[in-house]
Amino acid sequence: MTIGPTSGARSLWQDTLGEQDAPARPALPGPAAYDVVVVGAGLTGLWSAYHLRRADPTLRIAVLEKEVAGFGASGRNGGWCSALFPTSWDALVRASSVDGALRQHRAMQETVREVGRVVEAEGIDADFHRGGTVTLARTPVQLRRLQESVREVHGRGFTEEDERLLGAAEAAGMLAASDVVGGAFTPHTARVHPARLVRGLARVVEASGVDLFEHTEVTGIEPGRVRTAAGTVRAEVVLRATEGYTPGLPGHRRTVVPVYSLMVATEPLDEATWATIGLADRPTFTDARHLIVYGQRTEDGRIAFGGRGAPYHFGSRVSPSYDAEPRVFADLEATLREMLPQLGGTRFTHRWGGPLAIARDWAASVGLDRSTGLGWAGGYVGDGVATTNLAGRTLADLVTGAATDLTDLPWVDHRSRAWEPEPLRWLGINAGLRAMTLADAEEARTGRRSRLARAMAPLTGGH
Ligand SMILES: Cc1cc2nc3c(=O)[nH]c(=O)nc-3n(C[C@H](O)[C@H](O)[C@H](O)COP(=O)(O)OP(=O)(O)OC[C@H]3O[C@@H](n4cnc5c(N)ncnc54)[C@H](O)[C@@H]3O)c2cc1C
Repeated sequence: MTIGPTSGARSLWQDTLGEQDAPARPALPGPAAYDVVVVGAGLTGLWSAYHLRRADPTLRIAVLEKEVAGFGASGRNGGWCSALFPTSWDALVRASSVDGALRQHRAMQETVREVGRVVEAEGIDADFHRGGTVTLARTPVQLRRLQESVREVHGRGFTEEDERLLGAAEAAGMLAASDVVGGAFTPHTARVHPARLVRGLARVVEASGVDLFEHTEVTGIEPGRVRTAAGTVRAEVVLRATEGYTPGLPGHRRTVVPVYSLMVATEPLDEATWATIGLADRPTFTDARHLIVYGQRTEDGRIAFGGRGAPYHFGSRVSPSYDAEPRVFADLEATLREMLPQLGGTRFTHRWGGPLAIARDWAASVGLDRSTGLGWAGGYVGDGVATTNLAGRTLADLVTGAATDLTDLPWVDHRSRAWEPEPLRWLGINAGLRAMTLADAEEARTGRRSRLARAMAPLTGGH
C-alpha cells in the first residue's frame, strides 16, 4: 500500500507508517444517496466527517477520495501541528475586529491541544509531542525582525506565555545551529508524524460508521450532488476539501493556486550527534529568513526538513512529477548542513514534496452556503495541520446549524477573490517566490533589511 506517489519522491512518512499501512479501501460501487458528501480524504475531509458524526450520529456521511486517504499534503507535510494562521492580523481585524482576530488566534492555540486530546482519546499513534517551536535568528537582521515580531505579538494581547524572545545562549541551547545570535520560542506547536495522523484518523472515521471510498474521483460538484465515474451521489450537503487539487475541479481553476513545498530527511542520527545538536524537548524549528524553512526531530531520531522555493506550474497544474525538484532538494540539504555542521557525513535518505493551496488574499476560509448546501474549507498555505481540525469542527457546527464560538470566527464564510488568469498568475507567483530567495541573499550580503521583500509583500501576502 502506498499513500503517496508510486515512483520518484517517496516520503519518509510513507516508509514509517507502521500499523497504519492498511490495504486500500473499495471505490464507490455506483450511484448513492447520503445526507453529507465530503470530497477529499485529507485532514480537512476527515476532521469534518469525524466531528459531523459526533455532532449527529444519525447523519449518513460519505467521504470520496480520488487516491487514498492521506494521499495529499496531509500525508506528506512537515508535521508542525501549530497555531500559525495564514491570514494576516490586519486582514482579520478588517474582516471583524481586534477581538475577532484575537479569538481566531486563541482558537488556533486551543486547536493544537484539541488535536492532542483526540489522538490520545482515539488511540492514534501519531508521535504527537507538544514541544513548541524555536525560531532562530542567525544574523543581526533576522534578530531585529524577530524582536519586532514578538513586540507586535505582545502589543496584540498575547504574553510571554505565547511567545518570548531568547538570548543567543538559550536559543543555541535549544538548537545548536551555526551563527545563532538569538531566537524566539512559542509553546503552541506539537510535532506529529503526519501520515500516521491522517491514516489513523481515517481508520477512526470509518469505524464510526462513515463510508470512506478510495480511488473515487469527483468530476463535478453541484448543489445536491457530486458526479463520479461510478455515478451520481446525491446529498443535501456537499463539502469540498480538496486544497491544492481544487483547480482541477470544474469551476474552480482560479479559486486557489497550488504551490509546492518540498522536504528531505536524514538517516537516523546517533545519540552522540543529537547531544551536539539539541532539540532535546523536540521543538519544531526554523529560522527567520524570508523563504520559509521548517524542521522537526522525528520519533526515530532523524531530521525532517522542508522549505518553499519550488516553482509554481503554469495553469495551476498539479502532477506527481512536480513532487521532485532536484535543485530545491539540493538547496534544502545544503541549508540544513550549513545550519548544522555537526551533521558531517550524515546521509539524506528521503526527498519528497506536495502541493498546498494559497487563496488570492492569502486568507484561509471555511464556510457553508445554506442556499446551495455547498461548503468548503482550505487555503491554509503551509499551516493546515492544526487548522484543518478547526475547519472540521466549524463545518460540523455549520452543517448541524449550531451557532457557536467557532461559527462566529472571522474566517467563517470569508470569500477570497479569484486569482488572475494566466499568464499573469504564473508571472506574479514565480516573481514573488524568486523575490524571497533574492531577499535572503541581499540581507546576507548587505546585513540590512531587504527592500525587495517589502516591495514584493503585496504579491506574496507578506509571507
Ligand atoms: C511538503 C509540505 C509540508 C507542509 N508542512 C506543513 C506543516 O508542517 N504544518 C502545517 O500546518 N501545514 C503544513 N503543510 C500544509 C498542510 O499539509 C495542508 O494545509 C493540509 O494537509 C491540507 O489538508 P487538506 O485535507 O485540506 O488537503 P489535502 O491533504 O491535500 O487533501 C486533499 C485530498 O483531496 C483529494 N482530492 C482532490 N481532488 C479530488 C477529487 N476531484 N475527487 C476526490 N478527491 C479529490 C486528494 O487526493 C487529497 O487526498 C505542508 C504541505 C506540504 C505539501
